[in-house]
Amino acid sequence: MTSTETIYDAVIVGGGLSGSFVADVLTQAGMKCVMLEAGEHFAKDTYPRNELDANSKLYWGGGVELNSDASIGFLRPKAVGGGTIVNQALLDRFDDPAFDSWQEASGVSWLNRADLDPWYDRAAKRIAIQTIPEEYRNGNAEVFRRGFEANGYRCAPLERAQKDCRFEEGNCCIVCLAGCPIDSKQSTPVTVLQTALEAGLELVPDFEAKQVEESAAETRVTGVGEDGKTRTYRGKRMILACGAIGNSHLLLTSGFGKRLPALGQNFYTHPQYMNLAVFEEPVDAFQGPMQSYKSADPDFRRSGFKLENVFAPPAAIAMLLPGFGAEHQGHMRNIRHLACIEVCVRDTNPGRVRATRRGGLVVDKTLNEEDRRRRDRGRDAIRNIFYAAGAKEIIEGSVAIGLHLMGGCNMGNDVAHSVVDPEFRVHGARNIFAADSSVFPDAPGINPSFTIMALSLKAAAGILEEAGV
Ligand SMILES: Cc1cc2nc3c(=O)[nH]c(=O)nc-3n(C[C@H](O)[C@H](O)[C@H](O)COP(=O)(O)OP(=O)(O)OC[C@H]3O[C@@H](n4cnc5c(N)ncnc54)[C@H](O)[C@@H]3O)c2cc1C
Repeated sequence: MTSTETIYDAVIVGGGLSGSFVADVLTQAGMKCVMLEAGEHFAKDTYPRNELDANSKLYWGGGVELNSDASIGFLRPKAVGGGTIVNQALLDRFDDPAFDSWQEASGVSWLNRADLDPWYDRAAKRIAIQTIPEEYRNGNAEVFRRGFEANGYRCAPLERAQKDCRFEEGNCCIVCLAGCPIDSKQSTPVTVLQTALEAGLELVPDFEAKQVEESAAETRVTGVGEDGKTRTYRGKRMILACGAIGNSHLLLTSGFGKRLPALGQNFYTHPQYMNLAVFEEPVDAFQGPMQSYKSADPDFRRSGFKLENVFAPPAAIAMLLPGFGAEHQGHMRNIRHLACIEVCVRDTNPGRVRATRRGGLVVDKTLNEEDRRRRDRGRDAIRNIFYAAGAKEIIEGSVAIGLHLMGGCNMGNDVAHSVVDPEFRVHGARNIFAADSSVFPDAPGINPSFTIMALSLKAAAGILEEAGV
């Protein structure tokens, strides 16, 4: 085992969305930082381009990890850039109901729109944000819009972190779920991580942190690099940015569970169910911009769900279609005629991330009656939308996917019920911080990444202020 001579101003563990935003602020201010990331460092011309490779190279668990009763599949990104490489890049600020619920769950008074708006504004300055031009909205979007209008539901164009998708050249967004080949999607390696690297950030990809600890003098992160060797990185402070499952698991395997009873609890996922419909005419849902509209219906919000107008690559669609052999092939041959709408549940039943005695990962997470009710209301609305838009048949998805992984190190004032304090510091630690999706107090029911950017910028500013930089 080797230990670095350097004592960094900050060791950032996890090179995804939050880690990149924090790293940029700290390095720009002159701090000497290193970022440790378990995944590989890809670029626009090296992203895996076939669906199977993409799943295995860009996600933990070879593509999908399951909860303890195998009823929810988690998509947990693993690459430099984290979720920003594989996500849809939809951006939303939280509304009052989301913040009210966070305040109630955490007791943290600054979790409100007025206090967070300046941080959203700063985040927005670091990336390009666009709405898909009307003329490029695809067949799936058209089904969505028609069905909403016919039912009197409200939908709205959505905002996406993208710069220049060049739709006029026929570019197809479905490939960008495995990394954008034209650097239009505002993944952190082409935005804040790039500027952090230019300012001197050291990046160590293929390094999985296994143990974190803190003494009076320093913080230490020990893990295994690409060469299989164990190495320790030392820092004046440490920023945990491994995401909800990653941060919880790392702290648990490092023995923090003894003094942090809430560690790993309060874990949410916005369980999502894809529902397909068969149309007479081709829909070609996989072509062009993937998502142009979002549901913006106040009744949906009150009912605890939102609808997403998303499609998936062929292997994922194949898993949703019924039957075997010739029957299944028949459905797959029909892929051009399929439309898709996903119901995304604002889940109320917290799950729990656990570490086994040997350091393995277990996630307990189920839907309670209220969550199932929310899902079923969403499915009712989807049926109304599809039939009003002319669907011949609906294939209801029964597999839950969790891709907004949140909580486990929830923020709060009280060590008995939370893990991170309102200054983003792990309770009882001197210099261990987190501001990523793990600190969410509960499920907001809204796309999380814009808020993760805002929280990360606020946390980084606090760290600089405390350090007198
Ligand atoms: C398919 C998909 C679509 C999505 N679409 C949207 C969307 O449209 N809008 C939206 O707002 N959100 C979306 N999300 C969710 C969003 O991407 C995440 O909420 C966000 O990336 C979380 O940020 P984070 O910094 O907490 O974690 P991440 O961005 O996931 O980064 C965590 C990083 O830490 C690394 N890591 C973990 N453990 C270790 C370890 N022990 N050692 C070293 N490194 C480690 C991981 O490999 C990862 O790269 C989507 C997610 C997925 C999977």
